[in-house]
Amino acid sequence: MHINEFPTEILSAILEQAAKINEHNGVTFTFGLSQAPLPLQKTPLQRYVRGHVPPDMLKWDATASIRAVCGKWHDWALDYSLRDLYIRRWRGSERWAELSLKRENYGTYELIEKPSGMPVRRDPFQALSLTAKLLSKYPQIASNVRRMWLDGFYDFDRNVLIHSTLQNCTMLTSASLPWTALRHLNGQDWARLLGRGRQTTLQSLELLAVDMPKMQAMEPSNQVDLRPLESAMVNFSNLRKLKLFGDTTFMPITDQDLHAIARTATNLEEFHLTCLSTITIDGVLAIIKSSQSTLRVLEHSPRSNDGFWHPHPGSPADNEHLCEILANCPRLEDMSISLPSMCPALFANPNVRWQRDCQVRALHLCGCENAPSGSVATVDTLKSVLQAARDLITVRRNSHIPAELTLELFFADFIFDPHLKAVHGDFQLSEFGSSGIWPTTRTLSRKGPYGSTGLYGKDEEDVFERVDEEEFLDGARRRWVSIDS
Ligand SMILES: [Zn+2]
Repeated sequence: MHINEFPTEILSAILEQAAKINEHNGVTFTFGLSQAPLPLQKTPLQRYVRGHVPPDMLKWDATASIRAVCGKWHDWALDYSLRDLYIRRWRGSERWAELSLKRENYGTYELIEKPSGMPVRRDPFQALSLTAKLLSKYPQIASNVRRMWLDGFYDFDRNVLIHSTLQNCTMLTSASLPWTALRHLNGQDWARLLGRGRQTTLQSLELLAVDMPKMQAMEPSNQVDLRPLESAMVNFSNLRKLKLFGDTTFMPITDQDLHAIARTATNLEEFHLTCLSTITIDGVLAIIKSSQSTLRVLEHSPRSNDGFWHPHPGSPADNEHLCEILANCPRLEDMSISLPSMCPALFANPNVRWQRDCQVRALHLCGCENAPSGSVATVDTLKSVLQAARDLITVRRNSHIPAELTLELFFADFIFDPHLKAVHGDFQLSEFGSSGIWPTTRTLSRKGPYGSTGLYGKDEEDVFERVDEEEFLDGARRRWVSIDS
């Protein structure tokens, strides 16, 4: 039997195995030189490993020989290596004279004892413009692309090019785009991007924001806002995953945009909003409400790397009770959220599907926002929040389909582990204030202001300690620890 007569899945499995072995044996690193030689100067150059060859290029290299066998294998190889495309802006202008552009020749380069080189200017947008050219010339190649990831292109012209490139990818289901695409493309462009007139619709959309270089930001063509979200043609109802990542001051994504997206984003299963401070809880709430019945993963950490020091999450415009809304997302499993306030209602629904590690960061306790520092009401509410969280963990463990749930609560500069009845924090001032009699149950804590990942600064390494929850609440009642709500 000829190998090409094997069932497709078996042939595909064989070729994939071969490609993986080729990848393993192929070139996985690229080289740099220690410094650019200056004219008329003899500087000894050191060769170093500059970094990994990106995954899509590894796949392309690994299938080179397979592509040359026959038409069937060629088609398989295109599907395998072009499924995910990562296109980056070229950073750095150097290219070393002796380093071949063909990675298969790197072996010879490694033999050169005294490497030399000269910096050569490269068009930083070349990867994008060449890909755009290739995909528009050969639609059958474009039809293999399922996921496109673009990094480093934010200006108007590049957004237009990105759009025309994606346009040719008829099977595209996932795209990571610059946030400026929400400004520089019009309603019709976005309708097409989301799937109008294509074989497949876009299921996953990531918008990545960075601080734009000043020169680019001041360019009038980049300041264009075509307001695509106001168009009735733009429909996010087929989208399953929406991710917004990164902060910017240049035409940032705001609550208004999220409200506009929420009008049609009614089937989201995943919503991630990370390292971004231009959206408040009001915009997040709009998305939660529009996809309340389908949402499975919710991550809202405006500044995930800053531990407690999150920007104020804002307040919902309609004064709605967020705890109840969150407790009534029937499919929600994974949650990490920053809330203006929390209370026992957040943990009151025994039918939630929450599991694994869920994190809640709250600035206040519901109803105690204006209570005086360390008031009885605040301490009592905190006590019932912790008890409600503990009860929910037990309910989840004993449910029909048992689930392991851990709740980590961040409030008033402390981290609460209700299932361990433990509180982590910096108790040095409290010890001083109580003349050394409090706390008595202290042990070393492995947590820091950044949650379970510990502290960043070495100087602060031994600041966080752990005390028993009961003793903590007692300390709060006696005002030895401050829990301003
Ligand atoms: Zn509440």
